[in-house]
Amino acid sequence: MRRLLLKSFVHGPLTEPAPARDEAALAELAARVNGASRKRLGRTLAIREVDAGSCNGCELEIHALNNVFYDLERFGLRFVASPRHADVLLVTGPVTAHMREALERTYAATPDPKWVVAVGDCGRDGGVFAASRACVGGVSAVVPVDMHIPGCPPSPVALLRGLLALIENVTA
Ligand code: SF4
Repeated sequence: MRRLLLKSFVHGPLTEPAPARDEAALAELAARVNGASRKRLGRTLAIREVDAGSCNGCELEIHALNNVFYDLERFGLRFVASPRHADVLLVTGPVTAHMREALERTYAATPDPKWVVAVGDCGRDGGVFAASRACVGGVSAVVPVDMHIPGCPPSPVALLRGLLALIENVTA
């Protein structure tokens, strides 16, 4: 134990440094998402997150949008518990055979107008899991996809940029 403590004093933390905080840029980006969703939808943006079989890396970044660092609910970006209340389905992972029906039913339960955003490299085409017999492919193999946000995983800011581009480019 003593050796371990000594080692930690000598080597310091092994984790990566936290990303530089650019509060003003983040606030501006989030406010633009809020403004665009109010203009297009007349209200804030409601998102239902669907994990169709991811490794949870993408979920960690999506969850970060709600933490105290990003705290995006203050800008009108809301995660909802039911697809019946959602504007956007944010779908992660390769779609697994077991999650295929759940994704189809979630899509069917989401009222129009609705948009589907495939998140991460796995959401595009199955990514590193594409060859697995447990996967049926990317999100577009099961439901129509309006936008893909690349990355493994995409950062919270990349997610926000993707949502903004989606809202600015679709017609409600
Ligand atoms: S894109 Fe990367 S982080 Fe996201 S589910 Fe696939 S392997 Fe995991």
